Amino acid sequence: MVLGAGESGIGAAILAKKKGLEVFVSDSGTITKENKKVLSNNEIKWEEAGHTLEKVLLADEVIKSPGISDSVEIIQQLKKEGIPMISEVEFAFRYTKAKVVAITGSNGKTTTTLLLGHILKKAGLDVLIAGNIGVGFAKEIAKRDYDYIVLELSSFQLDGIKEFKPNVAIILNITPDHLERYNNDFSKYVASKLRITMNQKKQDVLIFNADDNQIKNLKTKAKSIPFTLENQIDGDGTFYKNNKININLNNNKMTIQELALQGRHNIYNSMAAAMASRILDVKDGIIKQSMLDFQNIEHRLEYVLTVHGIDFINDSKATNVNATWYALESMTKSVIWIVGGVDKGNDYDEIQEIVKQKVKAIICLGDSNKKIQKYFKKIVSNIETVSSMEEAVRISYQLGDKGDVVLLSPTCASFDMFDNFEHRGQTFKNQVRKL
Ligand code: ADP
Repeated sequence: MVLGAGESGIGAAILAKKKGLEVFVSDSGTITKENKKVLSNNEIKWEEAGHTLEKVLLADEVIKSPGISDSVEIIQQLKKEGIPMISEVEFAFRYTKAKVVAITGSNGKTTTTLLLGHILKKAGLDVLIAGNIGVGFAKEIAKRDYDYIVLELSSFQLDGIKEFKPNVAIILNITPDHLERYNNDFSKYVASKLRITMNQKKQDVLIFNADDNQIKNLKTKAKSIPFTLENQIDGDGTFYKNNKININLNNNKMTIQELALQGRHNIYNSMAAAMASRILDVKDGIIKQSMLDFQNIEHRLEYVLTVHGIDFINDSKATNVNATWYALESMTKSVIWIVGGVDKGNDYDEIQEIVKQKVKAIICLGDSNKKIQKYFKKIVSNIETVSSMEEAVRISYQLGDKGDVVLLSPTCASFDMFDNFEHRGQTFKNQVRKL
Protein backbone atom coordinates (compact mmCIF):
# COMPACT_ATOMS: atom_id res chain seq x y z
CA MET A 1 0.00 0.00 0.00
CA VAL A 2 1.50 3.28 -1.09
CA LEU A 3 0.06 6.33 0.65
CA GLY A 4 0.60 9.52 -1.31
CA ALA A 5 1.07 9.66 -5.07
CA GLY A 6 3.86 12.21 -5.29
CA GLU A 7 7.34 11.65 -6.70
CA SER A 8 8.39 9.19 -4.01
CA GLY A 9 5.07 7.30 -3.87
CA ILE A 10 4.87 6.76 -7.62
CA GLY A 11 8.48 5.58 -7.66
CA ALA A 12 7.87 3.17 -4.79
CA ALA A 13 4.80 1.76 -6.56
CA ILE A 14 6.73 1.19 -9.79
CA LEU A 15 9.57 -0.52 -7.93
CA ALA A 16 7.14 -2.70 -5.97
CA LYS A 17 5.38 -3.74 -9.17
CA LYS A 18 8.66 -4.49 -10.86
CA LYS A 19 9.64 -6.72 -7.95
CA GLY A 20 6.42 -8.70 -8.33
CA LEU A 21 4.54 -7.32 -5.32
CA GLU A 22 0.85 -6.60 -5.31
CA VAL A 23 0.57 -2.83 -5.01
CA PHE A 24 -2.13 -0.21 -4.55
CA VAL A 25 -1.74 3.60 -4.43
CA SER A 26 -4.05 5.74 -2.31
CA ASP A 27 -4.01 9.53 -2.17
CA SER A 28 -6.17 11.86 -0.06
CA GLY A 29 -5.92 14.59 -2.71
CA THR A 30 -5.98 14.46 -6.48
CA ILE A 31 -3.35 12.59 -8.46
CA THR A 32 -1.85 14.50 -11.37
CA LYS A 33 -2.74 13.49 -14.92
CA GLU A 34 0.83 12.46 -15.68
CA ASN A 35 1.05 10.29 -12.57
CA LYS A 36 -2.25 8.59 -13.39
CA LYS A 37 -0.86 7.77 -16.78
CA VAL A 38 2.34 6.35 -15.26
CA LEU A 39 0.26 4.21 -12.89
CA SER A 40 -1.99 2.83 -15.61
CA ASN A 41 0.99 2.19 -17.92
CA ASN A 42 2.46 0.09 -15.12
CA GLU A 43 -0.88 -1.60 -14.41
CA ILE A 44 -0.98 -0.26 -10.87
CA LYS A 45 -4.38 0.30 -9.23
CA TRP A 46 -5.06 3.57 -7.43
CA GLU A 47 -7.64 5.76 -5.71
CA GLU A 48 -7.75 9.51 -5.08
CA ALA A 49 -9.66 12.11 -3.03
CA GLY A 50 -9.61 9.93 0.07
CA HIS A 51 -8.41 6.62 1.48
CA THR A 52 -10.75 3.62 1.63
CA LEU A 53 -10.05 2.44 5.13
CA GLU A 54 -10.96 -1.23 4.54
CA LYS A 55 -8.57 -1.38 1.60
CA VAL A 56 -5.71 0.36 3.36
CA LEU A 57 -6.04 -1.83 6.42
CA LEU A 58 -5.60 -4.96 4.25
CA ALA A 59 -1.99 -4.01 3.57
CA ASP A 60 0.95 -6.16 4.67
CA GLU A 61 3.16 -3.12 4.62
CA VAL A 62 2.56 0.58 3.99
CA ILE A 63 4.94 2.95 2.24
CA LYS A 64 4.06 6.40 3.53
CA SER A 65 4.92 9.58 1.69
CA PRO A 66 7.10 11.90 3.80
CA GLY A 67 4.53 14.64 3.25
CA ILE A 68 1.86 12.88 5.35
CA SER A 69 1.83 13.93 8.99
CA ASP A 70 1.64 11.26 11.70
CA SER A 71 -1.36 12.98 13.21
CA VAL A 72 -3.79 12.28 10.34
CA GLU A 73 -6.60 9.78 10.88
CA ILE A 74 -5.40 7.09 8.48
CA ILE A 75 -1.93 6.93 10.03
CA GLN A 76 -3.41 6.70 13.52
CA GLN A 77 -5.59 3.79 12.35
CA LEU A 78 -2.65 1.98 10.78
CA LYS A 79 -0.66 2.38 13.97
CA LYS A 80 -3.54 1.03 16.01
CA GLU A 81 -3.74 -2.03 13.79
CA GLY A 82 0.02 -2.53 14.02
CA ILE A 83 0.52 -2.49 10.24
CA PRO A 84 4.20 -1.77 9.48
CA MET A 85 4.89 1.59 7.87
CA ILE A 86 8.09 2.60 6.12
CA SER A 87 9.36 5.38 3.88
CA GLU A 88 10.21 5.06 0.21
CA VAL A 89 13.90 5.34 1.19
CA GLU A 90 13.68 2.22 3.35
CA PHE A 91 11.88 0.37 0.56
CA ALA A 92 14.29 1.33 -2.23
CA PHE A 93 17.29 0.50 -0.05
CA ARG A 94 16.24 -3.17 -0.05
CA TYR A 95 16.90 -3.35 -3.77
CA THR A 96 20.33 -1.74 -4.17
CA LYS A 97 23.85 -3.08 -3.76
CA ALA A 98 25.39 0.37 -4.16
CA LYS A 99 27.65 2.11 -1.69
CA VAL A 100 25.35 4.70 -0.19
CA VAL A 101 26.28 8.15 1.12
CA ALA A 102 23.32 9.71 2.94
CA ILE A 103 23.23 13.40 3.77
CA THR A 104 20.97 15.16 6.24
CA GLY A 105 20.87 18.44 8.15
CA SER A 106 18.61 21.44 8.54
CA ASN A 107 20.43 23.41 5.84
CA GLY A 108 22.92 22.63 3.10
CA LYS A 109 21.62 19.18 2.15
CA THR A 110 20.99 19.94 -1.51
CA THR A 111 24.21 21.89 -1.93
CA THR A 112 26.32 19.15 -0.32
CA THR A 113 24.54 16.35 -2.17
CA LEU A 114 25.11 18.01 -5.54
CA LEU A 115 28.70 18.90 -4.70
CA LEU A 116 29.53 15.35 -3.66
CA GLY A 117 27.71 13.96 -6.70
CA HIS A 118 29.74 16.32 -8.88
CA ILE A 119 33.04 15.13 -7.39
CA LEU A 120 32.16 11.44 -7.74
CA LYS A 121 31.03 11.90 -11.34
CA LYS A 122 34.23 13.73 -12.17
CA ALA A 123 36.09 10.78 -10.71
CA GLY A 124 34.36 8.65 -13.33
CA LEU A 125 32.23 6.67 -10.89
CA ASP A 126 28.77 5.31 -11.66
CA VAL A 127 26.68 7.59 -9.40
CA LEU A 128 23.00 8.20 -8.74
CA ILE A 129 22.06 11.46 -7.01
CA ALA A 130 18.61 11.08 -5.48
CA GLY A 131 16.25 11.56 -2.54
CA ASN A 132 14.84 14.77 -1.19
CA ILE A 133 16.59 16.62 -3.99
CA GLY A 134 13.62 15.73 -6.21
CA VAL A 135 14.88 12.58 -7.92
CA GLY A 136 12.99 9.52 -6.72
CA PHE A 137 15.33 6.93 -5.18
CA ALA A 138 12.90 4.04 -5.78
CA LYS A 139 11.98 5.26 -9.26
CA GLU A 140 15.61 5.26 -10.36
CA ILE A 141 16.42 1.93 -8.71
CA ALA A 142 13.45 0.45 -10.56
CA LYS A 143 15.30 1.31 -13.80
CA ARG A 144 18.75 0.05 -12.80
CA ASP A 145 21.20 -0.21 -9.91
CA TYR A 146 24.32 1.95 -9.48
CA ASP A 147 27.76 1.55 -7.89
CA TYR A 148 27.33 4.67 -5.75
CA ILE A 149 24.29 6.55 -4.51
CA VAL A 150 24.36 10.02 -2.96
CA LEU A 151 21.08 10.51 -1.12
CA GLU A 152 19.67 13.73 0.30
CA LEU A 153 17.41 12.85 3.24
CA SER A 154 14.92 14.98 5.15
CA SER A 155 13.90 14.27 8.72
CA PHE A 156 10.53 12.98 7.44
CA GLN A 157 12.25 10.43 5.22
CA LEU A 158 14.39 9.33 8.16
CA ASP A 159 11.30 8.94 10.34
CA GLY A 160 10.24 6.06 8.10
CA ILE A 161 13.44 4.00 8.05
CA LYS A 162 13.96 0.70 9.85
CA GLU A 163 17.02 -1.04 8.46
CA PHE A 164 18.39 1.63 6.14
CA LYS A 165 22.16 1.71 6.71
CA PRO A 166 24.34 4.09 4.69
CA ASN A 167 28.04 3.29 4.26
CA VAL A 168 28.76 6.96 4.84
CA ALA A 169 26.37 9.29 6.66
CA ILE A 170 26.77 13.06 6.85
CA ILE A 171 25.03 15.28 9.41
CA LEU A 172 25.59 18.91 8.46
CA ASN A 173 23.82 20.80 11.25
CA ILE A 174 20.61 20.68 13.27
CA THR A 175 18.75 23.92 13.91
CA PRO A 176 15.02 24.50 14.40
CA ASP A 177 12.87 23.85 11.32
CA HIS A 178 9.58 22.07 10.56
CA LEU A 179 8.69 22.15 14.25
CA GLU A 180 5.00 22.24 13.39
CA ARG A 181 5.39 18.58 12.36
CA TYR A 182 7.09 17.63 15.65
CA ASN A 183 4.59 19.12 18.14
CA ASN A 184 6.93 22.10 18.51
CA ASP A 185 9.38 19.77 20.24
CA PHE A 186 12.91 20.42 18.98
CA SER A 187 14.28 17.27 20.62
CA LYS A 188 11.94 15.13 18.47
CA TYR A 189 13.22 16.79 15.31
CA VAL A 190 16.83 16.28 16.44
CA ALA A 191 16.10 12.60 17.14
CA SER A 192 14.74 12.19 13.58
CA LYS A 193 17.90 13.54 12.03
CA LEU A 194 20.13 11.34 14.17
CA ARG A 195 18.34 8.22 12.90
CA ILE A 196 20.61 8.45 9.87
CA THR A 197 23.33 6.65 11.85
CA MET A 198 21.20 4.32 13.98
CA ASN A 199 21.88 1.17 11.93
CA GLN A 200 25.48 1.92 11.05
CA LYS A 201 28.18 -0.56 12.11
CA LYS A 202 31.84 -0.04 12.82
CA GLN A 203 32.86 -0.48 9.20
CA ASP A 204 30.61 2.48 8.31
CA VAL A 205 31.49 6.16 8.66
CA LEU A 206 29.67 9.12 10.14
CA ILE A 207 30.91 12.56 9.08
CA PHE A 208 29.55 15.15 11.52
CA ASN A 209 29.68 18.83 12.37
CA ALA A 210 31.67 19.10 15.60
CA ASP A 211 30.70 22.77 16.05
CA ASP A 212 27.03 21.89 16.41
CA ASN A 213 25.87 21.30 19.99
CA GLN A 214 23.07 18.95 18.92
CA ILE A 215 25.48 16.68 17.08
CA LYS A 216 28.89 16.78 18.68
CA ASN A 217 28.23 14.29 21.48
CA LEU A 218 26.27 11.90 19.32
CA LYS A 219 26.72 8.20 20.06
CA THR A 220 27.22 5.89 17.11
CA LYS A 221 28.77 2.53 16.29
CA ALA A 222 30.21 3.97 13.08
CA LYS A 223 33.67 5.43 12.79
CA SER A 224 32.92 9.10 13.42
CA ILE A 225 34.90 11.80 11.67
CA PRO A 226 34.38 15.46 12.63
CA PHE A 227 34.52 18.66 10.59
CA THR A 228 34.94 22.02 12.30
CA LEU A 229 35.62 25.69 11.71
CA GLU A 230 36.35 26.31 15.37
CA ASN A 231 39.18 23.93 16.27
CA GLN A 232 42.20 22.17 14.88
CA ILE A 233 42.05 18.38 14.59
CA ASP A 234 45.04 16.07 14.93
CA GLY A 235 43.46 12.72 14.07
CA ASP A 236 41.02 11.98 11.26
CA GLY A 237 38.88 15.01 10.47
CA THR A 238 38.52 18.25 8.57
CA PHE A 239 39.32 21.73 9.89
CA TYR A 240 39.91 25.24 8.60
CA LYS A 241 43.16 27.13 9.12
CA ASN A 242 44.78 30.07 7.28
CA ASN A 243 41.96 30.10 4.72
CA LYS A 244 42.53 26.48 3.86
CA ILE A 245 40.48 23.37 4.36
CA ASN A 246 42.70 20.68 5.92
CA ILE A 247 41.64 17.08 5.51
CA ASN A 248 43.31 14.32 7.52
CA LEU A 249 42.45 10.73 6.86
CA ASN A 250 44.49 7.67 7.84
CA ASN A 251 47.61 9.84 8.24
CA ASN A 252 47.23 11.30 4.75
CA LYS A 253 46.85 15.06 4.70
CA MET A 254 45.52 17.31 1.98
CA THR A 255 44.48 20.95 1.79
CA ILE A 256 41.97 22.82 -0.36
CA GLN A 257 42.27 26.56 -0.79
CA GLU A 258 39.96 27.62 -3.57
CA LEU A 259 36.22 27.07 -3.51
CA ALA A 260 33.65 27.99 -6.12
CA LEU A 261 31.01 28.33 -3.41
CA GLN A 262 31.08 31.44 -1.25
CA GLY A 263 30.09 31.97 2.39
CA ARG A 264 31.02 30.39 5.69
CA HIS A 265 28.21 27.84 5.46
CA ASN A 266 29.64 26.57 2.20
CA ILE A 267 32.98 25.88 3.86
CA TYR A 268 31.11 23.44 6.07
CA ASN A 269 29.36 21.88 3.07
CA SER A 270 32.64 21.63 1.18
CA MET A 271 34.46 20.06 4.13
CA ALA A 272 31.81 17.36 4.45
CA ALA A 273 31.74 16.59 0.71
CA ALA A 274 35.53 16.52 0.44
CA MET A 275 35.88 14.13 3.38
CA ALA A 276 33.24 11.78 1.95
CA SER A 277 35.07 11.77 -1.40
CA ARG A 278 38.35 10.89 0.27
CA ILE A 279 36.70 8.05 2.13
CA LEU A 280 35.54 6.77 -1.25
CA ASP A 281 39.15 6.99 -2.50
CA VAL A 282 38.73 9.86 -4.96
CA LYS A 283 42.12 11.35 -5.90
CA ASP A 284 43.11 14.67 -4.28
CA GLY A 285 43.49 16.44 -7.64
CA ILE A 286 39.95 15.56 -8.67
CA ILE A 287 38.52 16.76 -5.37
CA LYS A 288 40.36 20.11 -5.67
CA GLN A 289 39.34 20.64 -9.29
CA SER A 290 35.70 19.76 -8.53
CA MET A 291 35.59 22.28 -5.68
CA LEU A 292 36.64 24.93 -8.18
CA ASP A 293 34.35 24.19 -11.08
CA PHE A 294 31.17 23.34 -9.16
CA GLN A 295 28.36 25.62 -10.33
CA ASN A 296 26.31 27.25 -7.60
CA ILE A 297 22.69 26.15 -7.60
CA GLU A 298 19.75 28.40 -8.25
CA HIS A 299 17.97 30.15 -5.33
CA ARG A 300 20.85 29.65 -2.85
CA LEU A 301 22.66 32.97 -2.45
CA GLU A 302 22.38 33.34 -6.18
CA TYR A 303 23.69 36.61 -7.61
CA VAL A 304 21.11 38.00 -10.05
CA LEU A 305 22.07 41.46 -11.33
CA THR A 306 23.56 44.82 -10.39
CA VAL A 307 21.23 47.72 -11.22
CA HIS A 308 22.66 51.24 -10.77
CA GLY A 309 25.25 49.92 -8.34
CA ILE A 310 22.76 47.90 -6.26
CA ASP A 311 23.34 44.14 -6.19
CA PHE A 312 20.34 41.79 -6.14
CA ILE A 313 20.73 38.36 -4.55
CA ASN A 314 18.19 35.54 -4.62
CA ASP A 315 18.28 33.30 -1.54
CA SER A 316 14.67 32.12 -1.87
CA LYS A 317 15.63 28.68 -0.53
CA ALA A 318 16.33 30.22 2.90
CA THR A 319 13.18 29.01 4.64
CA ASN A 320 14.45 29.12 8.21
CA VAL A 321 16.34 31.44 10.54
CA ASN A 322 19.65 29.62 10.35
CA ALA A 323 19.89 29.81 6.56
CA THR A 324 19.23 33.54 6.68
CA TRP A 325 21.88 33.96 9.38
CA TYR A 326 24.51 32.56 7.01
CA ALA A 327 23.22 34.66 4.13
CA LEU A 328 23.48 37.86 6.16
CA GLU A 329 26.83 36.81 7.59
CA SER A 330 28.29 36.51 4.11
CA MET A 331 27.08 40.00 3.04
CA THR A 332 29.84 42.61 2.86
CA LYS A 333 27.55 45.52 1.89
CA SER A 334 24.67 47.29 3.57
CA VAL A 335 21.57 45.10 3.15
CA ILE A 336 17.98 45.75 2.18
CA TRP A 337 16.39 42.54 3.32
CA ILE A 338 13.23 41.08 1.74
CA VAL A 339 11.73 38.66 4.26
CA GLY A 340 8.45 36.89 5.03
CA GLY A 341 6.04 34.14 4.05
CA VAL A 342 4.67 31.24 6.07
CA ASP A 343 6.40 31.24 9.46
CA LYS A 344 7.21 27.70 10.66
CA GLY A 345 7.83 28.81 14.26
CA ASN A 346 10.77 31.18 13.77
CA ASP A 347 12.73 32.46 16.74
CA TYR A 348 14.20 35.71 15.51
CA ASP A 349 16.43 36.11 18.58
CA GLU A 350 19.01 34.05 16.72
CA ILE A 351 19.43 36.65 13.98
CA GLN A 352 18.77 39.79 15.97
CA GLU A 353 22.47 40.67 16.27
CA ILE A 354 23.39 40.02 12.65
CA VAL A 355 20.36 42.01 11.46
CA LYS A 356 21.49 44.90 13.64
CA GLN A 357 24.94 44.79 12.07
CA LYS A 358 24.04 44.36 8.42
CA VAL A 359 20.47 45.44 7.60
CA LYS A 360 19.49 49.03 6.77
CA ALA A 361 15.91 48.35 5.69
CA ILE A 362 13.41 45.51 5.87
CA ILE A 363 10.73 44.74 3.30
CA CYS A 364 8.06 42.39 4.70
CA LEU A 365 6.27 40.24 2.19
CA GLY A 366 3.46 37.83 3.02
CA ASP A 367 1.68 36.21 5.95
CA SER A 368 4.28 36.72 8.66
CA ASN A 369 4.33 40.54 8.28
CA LYS A 370 3.06 41.39 11.73
CA LYS A 371 5.43 39.12 13.63
CA ILE A 372 8.44 40.42 11.70
CA GLN A 373 7.43 44.06 12.07
CA LYS A 374 6.84 43.67 15.77
CA TYR A 375 10.12 41.93 16.34
CA PHE A 376 12.39 44.16 14.29
CA LYS A 377 10.85 47.61 14.74
CA LYS A 378 13.24 48.47 17.57
CA ILE A 379 16.26 47.26 15.61
CA VAL A 380 15.68 48.59 12.09
CA SER A 381 13.95 51.93 11.69
CA ASN A 382 13.00 51.47 8.08
CA ILE A 383 10.42 48.66 7.74
CA GLU A 384 8.04 48.51 4.78
CA THR A 385 5.14 46.16 4.19
CA VAL A 386 4.34 45.05 0.65
CA SER A 387 1.79 42.76 -0.93
CA SER A 388 3.59 41.52 -4.03
CA MET A 389 7.07 40.63 -5.21
CA GLU A 390 6.81 43.37 -7.82
CA GLU A 391 6.30 45.91 -5.04
CA ALA A 392 9.04 44.35 -2.90
CA VAL A 393 11.60 44.71 -5.66
CA ARG A 394 10.47 48.22 -6.64
CA ILE A 395 10.55 49.57 -3.09
CA SER A 396 13.85 47.94 -2.21
CA TYR A 397 15.33 49.48 -5.33
CA GLN A 398 13.99 52.91 -4.31
CA LEU A 399 15.44 52.54 -0.81
CA GLY A 400 18.81 51.36 -2.07
CA ASP A 401 21.89 53.46 -2.65
CA LYS A 402 24.84 52.64 -4.84
CA GLY A 403 26.91 49.98 -3.06
CA ASP A 404 23.97 48.38 -1.23
CA VAL A 405 22.67 44.90 -1.72
CA VAL A 406 19.06 43.74 -1.93
CA LEU A 407 18.80 40.26 -0.45
CA LEU A 408 15.73 38.03 -0.79
CA SER A 409 16.23 35.62 2.12
CA PRO A 410 12.67 34.97 3.33
CA THR A 411 13.27 32.83 6.49
CA CYS A 412 9.82 31.42 5.79
CA ALA A 413 8.06 28.95 3.52
CA SER A 414 6.56 30.29 0.31
CA PHE A 415 3.08 28.74 0.15
CA ASP A 416 1.12 31.88 1.06
CA MET A 417 1.90 33.58 -2.26
CA PHE A 418 3.86 31.14 -4.41
CA ASP A 419 3.76 27.50 -5.57
CA ASN A 420 7.16 26.80 -4.00
CA PHE A 421 10.53 28.43 -3.28
CA GLU A 422 11.59 28.09 -6.92
CA HIS A 423 8.54 30.04 -8.06
CA ARG A 424 9.27 32.73 -5.44
CA GLY A 425 12.91 33.03 -6.55
CA GLN A 426 11.97 33.08 -10.21
CA THR A 427 9.39 35.83 -9.63
CA PHE A 428 12.03 37.87 -7.78
CA LYS A 429 14.51 37.48 -10.63
CA ASN A 430 11.92 38.43 -13.24
CA GLN A 431 11.02 41.59 -11.34
CA VAL A 432 14.69 42.53 -10.90
CA ARG A 433 15.27 42.16 -14.63
CA LYS A 434 12.38 44.54 -15.28
CA LEU A 435 13.97 47.38 -13.29
P1 ADP B 1 18.59 22.13 2.12
O1 ADP B 1 18.55 21.17 0.99
O2 ADP B 1 19.03 21.48 3.40
O3 ADP B 1 17.37 22.97 2.29
P2 ADP B 1 20.21 23.97 0.50
O4 ADP B 1 21.56 23.53 0.08
O5 ADP B 1 19.11 23.94 -0.48
O6 ADP B 1 19.82 23.13 1.81
O7 ADP B 1 20.31 25.43 1.15
C1 ADP B 1 19.19 25.99 1.81
C2 ADP B 1 19.49 27.38 2.35
O8 ADP B 1 20.44 27.29 3.40
C3 ADP B 1 20.10 28.33 1.33
O9 ADP B 1 19.59 29.61 1.63
C4 ADP B 1 21.58 28.23 1.58
O10 ADP B 1 22.27 29.42 1.23
C5 ADP B 1 21.64 27.97 3.09
N1 ADP B 1 22.72 27.03 3.49
C6 ADP B 1 23.39 26.16 2.69
N2 ADP B 1 24.27 25.43 3.41
C7 ADP B 1 24.14 25.82 4.70
C8 ADP B 1 24.77 25.43 5.94
N3 ADP B 1 25.70 24.48 5.98
N4 ADP B 1 24.37 26.07 7.07
C9 ADP B 1 23.43 27.03 7.04
N5 ADP B 1 22.80 27.45 5.92
C10 ADP B 1 23.15 26.86 4.74
